[in-house]
Amino acid sequence: MTEHFKNLIAGEWVDGASVSININPSDTNDVVGHFARASKEQAEQAIAAAKAAFPAWSRTTPQERYEILKKASDEILARKDELGKLLSREEGKTLPEGIGEATRAGQIFAFFAGEALRLMGETVPSVRPGVGVEMTREAVGVIGMITPWNFPIAIPAWKIAPALAHGNTIVFKPADLVPGSAWAIVDILNRAGLPKGVLNLVMGRGSEVGQTILNHKDVNAITFTGSVGTGRKVAEAAIASSPMKKMQLEMGGKNPLVVLNDADLKTAVEAAVNGAFFSTGQRCTASSRLIVEEGIHDAFVAALAERLKGLSVDNALKAGTHIGPVVDQSQLDQDLSYIALGQKEGATLTWGGELLNRETPGFYLQPALFTGVDNSMRIAREEIFGPVGVVIKAKSYDEALAISNDTDFGLSAGICTSSLKYATHFKRNSEAGMVMVNLPTAGVDYHVPFGGRKGSSYGSREQGSYAKEFFTTVKTAYTFAG
Ligand code: NAD
Repeated sequence: MTEHFKNLIAGEWVDGASVSININPSDTNDVVGHFARASKEQAEQAIAAAKAAFPAWSRTTPQERYEILKKASDEILARKDELGKLLSREEGKTLPEGIGEATRAGQIFAFFAGEALRLMGETVPSVRPGVGVEMTREAVGVIGMITPWNFPIAIPAWKIAPALAHGNTIVFKPADLVPGSAWAIVDILNRAGLPKGVLNLVMGRGSEVGQTILNHKDVNAITFTGSVGTGRKVAEAAIASSPMKKMQLEMGGKNPLVVLNDADLKTAVEAAVNGAFFSTGQRCTASSRLIVEEGIHDAFVAALAERLKGLSVDNALKAGTHIGPVVDQSQLDQDLSYIALGQKEGATLTWGGELLNRETPGFYLQPALFTGVDNSMRIAREEIFGPVGVVIKAKSYDEALAISNDTDFGLSAGICTSSLKYATHFKRNSEAGMVMVNLPTAGVDYHVPFGGRKGSSYGSREQGSYAKEFFTTVKTAYTFAG
């Protein structure tokens, strides 16, 4: 029997106005569950509940917030295999990737349990005699959270955990395509002891539930992760609302991985395979542009193509699968249209790009490797969000750096080199928020800031102790003691 999952509004599990059917992309006959889609009125009720819960929650002690977050972390980590399997089943990343992501969510809750205890203020002497100045941080209020489908548990975790740690209340709308993992962490937090209304789950469509959150005057801040197009709508709505909302937007990428002549070939190929193709290329930090210096170009392309030929694209839950399916038909159509476009633009499809049939019906696509790509082509400029890598040849380090920065995005960038000089220069001169040396552009630590520049990000960083920039607001208090 198909399980039915409800929304959490004001501490009650409630049915929605309609239902979203969550399908396994590795086996389209497998229904993960039926998930309630909230109505506009229900989204408004959730906002009212979060507003009502805010005064008491924001005044809880750090110890109370620590205990709830730690309890949630413990349960997520104890259930990481089961949660990872659910994630792989609904999103299509491989089981080790799914378990890895669930583990990360547990680690994030543990980190922010500690952050609840570490919130500090400052006291400074005033420029005026007899006056003291204190700077403290306070919770912002009701936070609207809108998340994408490609990290169904880690992204909700890295927004929910700091919001709660710092005393905010939440209205959370996960991606309509993957509500299962989001539902699971809300259930865990609810049972961990959150008071009613502190965390509200309203699953459903962006245009309806998401837009209601964006337009509502009682939502004080919006944290959004998703595409640039939707991010722009979020920003417009946050500015148009009265009062204006604080906002944080994490969006797309077209991340360069530079490979220099002096790189260790094996390291470079592994960084490219991992960064461009694992998780089916569906990562904002994917190495979607491989910028390779002339002297190593042919050896690199040959070794990469060989490596791709040996990868197994199959059911995400099957042991030995390296690359799971694309998330759904519409993303698959987008990937295929870019593969056709690349050939039309004059790039060479060196390997892959074919649809594949497997034992179970799913959205299986062979990883595609383009060579002879010019950085002005659309396949080098637009985010494809699939297992498609493009190789751009560069004459020198200087040209490779210039190409890597010639993009509207600036999330992550990598370089493979054995030269300290070039590694250091690249770290200083890359226009990305995160820079990797001899590592894939994807794959980050959970205790340090995450985010980008240019068209990839807007607002303050997520994760690590930097998360407090968004989830708290600073108060400066002056006291005249006589
Ligand atoms: P998307 O923009 O289509 O959707 C993101 C979220 O916004 C979903 O929950 C969706 O329902 C909601 N939404 C859509 N229209 C809306 C509207 N009018 N009002 C309010 N909400 C609305 O993105 P996606 O396809 O789910 O995710 C893929 C994108 O996310 C890629 O561009 C990827 O690079 C990006 N991403 C960025 C990061 C990062 O941290 N920079 C991380 C992961 C994914």
